[in-house]
Amino acid sequence: MTTLAIVSALLDEQKGLLDQLQQPTQHVRAGRTFWCGQWAGHEVVLVLSKVGKVAAASTTATLIEAFGAERVLFTGVAGGIGDGVKVGDVVVADAFIQHDLDPSPFFPRYEIPLYDRATMACDETLSALLFEAVKSGLPKAGDHFHRDILLEAPGVHRGLIASGDQFVCDPADVNTIRTDLQAAGHQALAVEMEGAAVAQVCFDYGIPFAAMRTISDRADADAHMDFSAFVQQVASPYALAIVSQFMRILPK
Ligand code: SAH
Repeated sequence: MTTLAIVSALLDEQKGLLDQLQQPTQHVRAGRTFWCGQWAGHEVVLVLSKVGKVAAASTTATLIEAFGAERVLFTGVAGGIGDGVKVGDVVVADAFIQHDLDPSPFFPRYEIPLYDRATMACDETLSALLFEAVKSGLPKAGDHFHRDILLEAPGVHRGLIASGDQFVCDPADVNTIRTDLQAAGHQALAVEMEGAAVAQVCFDYGIPFAAMRTISDRADADAHMDFSAFVQQVASPYALAIVSQFMRILPK
């Protein structure tokens, strides 16, 4: 059976997912706790990557090398930087780019040296399944939360996500990130701190990867406010609803 890894960056993002594991066993390795078990008839391993690209890359390599992960799913939160990407929306990634990578003048800006590319594409089949799971799993969870906490029903987007080792919380920084990416032909919907690293390690190993992020903030001065409350009250139940649906439709 194919082992699926489910990676989250923060404990609050993982809450709810862990409860679904049947016959969980706990393994400590490389400073992480890996939870192995079954979910809806699938072999799964759950782990927290911790925050940032290096932490996420190290976690992903360990997942593959030590825990036999053959597919990787990331669930987490992100700042919305694309037009119309609002708090409470969900973004399914098509591809990732590192907004803080600049190896010029040796390579073009954003290009990953010796990979001959700037973006890392997600697996099409796995991402299509995830998008399907968001569309069918989110409305129920979203309806409940948008009445209590959010003003509008959650939108669903698909596209490029930009990763960098920076919590973006200033409109001027958002503007620079957007403008510079656009100048190189890239339009990012959201900004976060891990996805591009996970995507690159999965690319190295030829492992399918898909990712979803609930938009927790607009990467402005309010971004840090109630961050933890949002993750607990909205992003964590969203992730549970979506991943549960994903597990139901994922081929064995
Ligand atoms: N408050 C947390 C730290 C959050 S770091 C703590 O105390 O532990 C932000 C996390 O959310 C990262 O995993 C990142 O991927 C994501 N994220 C959400 N909004 C972001 C933003 N505006 N900029 C960058 N990362 C963001």
